Amino acid sequence: MKSWLVNISRLLLAVVFILSGFVKAIDPLGTQYKLTDYLIAMQLGSYIPEWATLGAAVLLAALEFSLGLFLLFGVHKQLTSRLTLLMLGVMTPLTLWLALTNPISDCGCFGDAIVLTNWQTFLKNVVLLAMAVIVACWPEKMFRFVSESNQWLVTNYTGVFILVVSAYCLYDLPLFDFRPYRVGTDLKTGWQKMMEGKDSPYADLFLESMDTGEDLTEQLLCDTGYVMLLVAPHLEQADDSRFDLINELNEYAREQGYAFYGVTASSEQAVERWREALGAEYPFCQADDIVLKTMIRSNPGLVLLKNGVVLGKWSHNRLPSLDDERASQPLNEQEIGRRQDDSTAKKVAWILGWFVLPLVILTIADRTWMWTKWLRRKKKQEKNVSFNINNKEKIMRKKIVAGNWKMNMNLQDGIALAKELNETLKAEKPNCGVVICTPFIHLASIAQFLDQSIIGLGAENCADKEKGAFTGEVSAEMVKSTGAQYVILGHSERREYYKETPEILKEKVLLAQKNDLKVIFCIGESLAEREAGKQNEVVKAELEGSVFNLSEEDFRKIVIAYEPIWAIGTGKTATAEQAEEIHAYIRSIIAEKYGQAVADDTTILYGGSCKASNAPELFAKPDIDGGLIGGASLKAADFKGIIDAFK
Ligand code: PEP
Repeated sequence: MKSWLVNISRLLLAVVFILSGFVKAIDPLGTQYKLTDYLIAMQLGSYIPEWATLGAAVLLAALEFSLGLFLLFGVHKQLTSRLTLLMLGVMTPLTLWLALTNPISDCGCFGDAIVLTNWQTFLKNVVLLAMAVIVACWPEKMFRFVSESNQWLVTNYTGVFILVVSAYCLYDLPLFDFRPYRVGTDLKTGWQKMMEGKDSPYADLFLESMDTGEDLTEQLLCDTGYVMLLVAPHLEQADDSRFDLINELNEYAREQGYAFYGVTASSEQAVERWREALGAEYPFCQADDIVLKTMIRSNPGLVLLKNGVVLGKWSHNRLPSLDDERASQPLNEQEIGRRQDDSTAKKVAWILGWFVLPLVILTIADRTWMWTKWLRRKKKQEKNVSFNINNKEKIMRKKIVAGNWKMNMNLQDGIALAKELNETLKAEKPNCGVVICTPFIHLASIAQFLDQSIIGLGAENCADKEKGAFTGEVSAEMVKSTGAQYVILGHSERREYYKETPEILKEKVLLAQKNDLKVIFCIGESLAEREAGKQNEVVKAELEGSVFNLSEEDFRKIVIAYEPIWAIGTGKTATAEQAEEIHAYIRSIIAEKYGQAVADDTTILYGGSCKASNAPELFAKPDIDGGLIGGASLKAADFKGIIDAFK
């Protein structure tokens, strides 16, 4: 049920975020205009420079689109769910404010593609916020379409794609034009409707000659010949680098008898400066700033009309050029004089080919790879399945008996014990992995003679810092340099006496793994917690606090040791049934987090007054894969007795 809820919410959020991010990304100037509207409504308009609002518009759209994609693929689950929640947590109150005060009529959440009222937007955000809360509560329930090891491909490709699309649309014009001035629109008819008092998006479309003050709208829209409008909402900020080409186009229009007008919302002085600086000889009309920004997303941009119909639009970066041959031909004999090819199907095909298809191929390849990996693992497991303890078949993950010497044995006694164990197990090979974890001072000496193909060597702790002024501490790198391969982390004695928190342990685990040490990670509840029936809660929180942040690949290197604190060194052992019950639970939460295959492969040891006498019964349980042994690891014979439970 929970899983359904999370996945439905995440898919709906993904669709909305992808759509709204995309429509904003393909129209960076439009998004910038909207951001500026917000800033003006908050009286912040004059503090933020244009480059900053444009940058923010591009990044915001890219973030929204990427979050949508990550939600769709189920990658970077924690981060994605938190950022989604944060975004909606900010947007929902903001849109409530918009709905209540109405400083902007359209919030612009879907660019110009879908226009919602402010109340509709707020309600939409309330629903999305509820979904974001659900996803943020259980991000791990998101079903992923791409494995963790390949998710970087989705992340990087999405980021690069959306930024390239934004840059292209900024250089040229929006990939899709959702505004009322798109190519093919009959402005004349729309404008006439407006003049008859009917509903029309051209209510503010008036072109007034700056030389005579005459209203030229009707004349220009009803002109049966070609009309070229050089639209520059603000001449002060307009890009004048292509002025030579603009002047050539004006000259050509004059020679061919076509109307050519500059159209701006700027003042007469600005027009004068433009004319003087660039030798512009064309007449200017004045029009509403918003109308011009809606007409074309380029400052300046060229709009070609014929009989009131928009035939083409060009940004100042992609103005049509006229070579000698073209300059002598009328427009109706040239490509640019025909209606621009604005085929939606072509653009959709481009997106499918450049974005959707590579991601679909990646997903199929990734799923196939994961599936073959799973098959290989399954086969390997099947080979080992017939391992028999008490005539019960069980999955054969690595069985380990690990000793924890704690603060016992001086150097000489420790070396003697390790030597004895080494000789004993060399003579009679164990049926399981054996590890001894010793105080730091023993490690280097024991590593000299220990046959580590039979007995692994480990430390009982390592520092949570890499190196430096931490008197008395021993780093993971130092442990590794002794020749040790393992380290025990999270032992209850260290949690209790040395106040090691989940955060500290998380650091230690990361550093240990960074230095190639295999971590035996201890978890377990106190007597009070067991009596309160909280053991499952406690072990889950301990795993979540320190090791569930790891990638699947790194988690696979961890050995878990379940050690009920009330059984450590007390002589009180958990019954085999009690231990099995919680081991099975631990395996189930690992399965929930990393999948059944990882859970099946994870070694979970039992620790707490384990002895040769009770080890066989404990180790016979299907989810108990060996033991972490304290007191009974201090004598070779006792320890060997426990190892022999696997015989
Ligand atoms: C331990 O401290 O890891 C432990 C299991 O101790 P004991 O076996 O002595 O209970």
